[in-house]
Amino acid sequence: MFDSSVTEPTDEQIAVLGDLLQNANRIVVLTGAGISTESGIPDYRGPNGIWATGKPPTIGDFMENEASRRTYWQRRLESYPSLLAAQPNPAHRALVDLEHAGKLSAIVTQNIDGLHQRAGSDPERVIELHGSAHVVRCTNCGTMFSGEEIQQRLLDGDRYPACPVCGGILRTATVLFGEPLPREALERSIALTRDADLLLVIGSSLVVNPAAKLPLIAKRNGAPFVIVNRTETRQDALADLRLEGSAGLILPRAIEQALP
Ligand code: NAD
Repeated sequence: MFDSSVTEPTDEQIAVLGDLLQNANRIVVLTGAGISTESGIPDYRGPNGIWATGKPPTIGDFMENEASRRTYWQRRLESYPSLLAAQPNPAHRALVDLEHAGKLSAIVTQNIDGLHQRAGSDPERVIELHGSAHVVRCTNCGTMFSGEEIQQRLLDGDRYPACPVCGGILRTATVLFGEPLPREALERSIALTRDADLLLVIGSSLVVNPAAKLPLIAKRNGAPFVIVNRTETRQDALADLRLEGSAGLILPRAIEQALP
């Protein structure tokens, strides 16, 4: 166990992560909101996070309560432009380099921002455990729409958009509180983590289950488990290596060292 309490890791600590990455060939990366803060998207539990500024509704509240849905679309109208404008940062891009070197099995992400794909990660290797904010779907007929199309309707004054196909209730394709995770995504994440020879967790407080269970699965199967995070997490005690600091600084350095 290699621990650090400094703000940014030392060269030696980066080198240890570089060695682990160099020796691994089936890496699973688990990312949380922290990998996208350097792209300007607040994390959940930080001072500007949604936790502080207004929690999203539960699935029950959303489906049963029109007032809750109206508030949801009003917030979406205000918040989606900044999500659309956000650009991938050096941490997202470093993971693309890891993939191109043939070392990455998958990126399992709790994020809904689509920034891994926009950075150039193969969409087939990005498993979105909590869905995507860039897709809107009808809860009745299942028709999908792009986030931008529905945003245009909101901007045009339709502040409570209904499905244009069947009139049903629309929602973003993200997982709301009280809702199960997409089964296939979860099963694939678990299977790939079982097969992984390194689990790298980036920017997650490791509070939200079942994503927070992946470290235990990796450890049981003998794979080292590494955390790159600005603050403490729930599972620091389980980690083989823990680098405290900014993902956008740490990952490019470590991955550059690992690749020929
Ligand atoms: P979290 O907010 O609980 O934890 C984020 C962690 O990242 C914190 O421990 C924080 O210290 C750390 N962090 C912040 N900036 C960092 C940086 N630059 N480098 C390294 N570490 C950094 O987030 P979570 O664990 O992902 O869980 C919260 C839930 O919020 C998820 O379910 C996710 O769906 C949702 N969410 C997603 C987004 C997004 O899509 N970008 C944004 C907010 C919330």
